[in-house]
Amino acid sequence: MQPAYDVVIVGGGVIGSAVAYFLSANADFGGKVAVVERDPYYTASSSSLSTSAIRQQFGTRPNIEMSAYSIAFLRQVKERLSVDGYEADIGLREPGYLILGGKEDVAIFESRNAVQKACGFDAELLSPAELGQRYPWLNTEDLGIGSYGPEKEGWFDGPALLQAFRRKARAQGVEYIADTVVGLDMAAPGHIGAVQLASGGRLATGIVVNAAGAWSGGIARMAGIDLPVVPRKRCIFVFETPAEIASCPFIFDTSGTVVRPEGHLYICGITPPRDNAPDDFGLDVDYDLFDELIWPALAHRVPGFEQLRLLRAWAGLYEYNTFDHSAVIGRHPEVTNLILATGFSGHGMMHSPAAGAGVSELITYGDCRSIDLTPFAFERIAENRRIEEHVY
Ligand SMILES: Cc1cc2nc3c(=O)[nH]c(=O)nc-3n(C[C@H](O)[C@H](O)[C@H](O)COP(=O)(O)OP(=O)(O)OC[C@H]3O[C@@H](n4cnc5c(N)ncnc54)[C@H](O)[C@@H]3O)c2cc1C
Repeated sequence: MQPAYDVVIVGGGVIGSAVAYFLSANADFGGKVAVVERDPYYTASSSSLSTSAIRQQFGTRPNIEMSAYSIAFLRQVKERLSVDGYEADIGLREPGYLILGGKEDVAIFESRNAVQKACGFDAELLSPAELGQRYPWLNTEDLGIGSYGPEKEGWFDGPALLQAFRRKARAQGVEYIADTVVGLDMAAPGHIGAVQLASGGRLATGIVVNAAGAWSGGIARMAGIDLPVVPRKRCIFVFETPAEIASCPFIFDTSGTVVRPEGHLYICGITPPRDNAPDDFGLDVDYDLFDELIWPALAHRVPGFEQLRLLRAWAGLYEYNTFDHSAVIGRHPEVTNLILATGFSGHGMMHSPAAGAGVSELITYGDCRSIDLTPFAFERIAENRRIEEHVY
């Protein structure tokens, strides 16, 4: 007889493990949950290769609410995710995000700031003179504005969060199965009956959650669904510098370059030009990105970075939603026992608590109660309704 579960989660990265944790923590659920993860060491999973920053400074209410819910949870990780003999610690730090804009960006910064304020987040808008005063190491000559979030923004240890969700979910009875999902058996039109495994087994299930990250487009195709989520490579570079850069927040430069401290080192990256970012699963590091785009941009913005030494680099995959680069979360309208939790496009680490809580409630109660995830529904794609979020 094939094993049977109430819920099978495909992919045990931070999203699948967050869903597993919240489901198994909810006394109203009480079902049997399996997570199928083919790479138990998470060597290629985005959750291992992430830089795991969190910001509140989005331009739309749905994403701001995801961040607000998630930072509250991340601040309580020790109480929520510790298990006997193991104290959960994700090293959360909140030095803030500093987003920089040119003179032409002032109006858009002001309108995003108004949306953030309406959602309860008070970012400071700074003039070039104020930026220069507060950050004497910053070149402000071509800046028009900066936006700084003084709290609830920063970074944490992403792999530690993934392991904490996973460890707690297992302690609460979730079964992790090291195998690859190779097919979905339809029990009836629009209803999945079982998940096929590469080992030859089958898992009967009431609900399937597609949390396969950059690979979730392939899982959706197994159910005949066209999901606009593709792998997009992002390269991260680690460097050291003798320069003194006091009180450095997470900086989002006008060039698209991002940089932040990591202990006594710095890590940085950039959204690569489209022709440099094919939609495939390759993980080779593009060192030209650093030499030709990132370093010149860093040295321009923070002259102290002219003197730096590149130490190492790695590449990982965004699970990129080509429709509107925001998450796709919720029940599929035609395959109604398939729930999507993917397409976070660079925000899955920070939004994993909100996504996990919302999806678990959708499964348990039929709707999300702690946070409204309906704006992220799959239906918006067919209806051509974009979440108009600014791309960073
Ligand atoms: C370089 C980089 C920097 C980033 N920086 C940030 C950041 O600062 N802040 C932020 O919030 N987010 C960031 N992200 C994005 C974030 O890491 C992802 O959104 C998040 O990790 C997605 O989690 P996931 O669980 O959906 O995917 P994953 O961690 O990739 O997990 C999906 C899992 O599914 C498994 N799987 C796939 N197919 C199958 C199958 N057929 N059978 C069984 N298992 C399968 C895979 O092995 C994988 O472990 C970054 C990502 C990268 C690459």
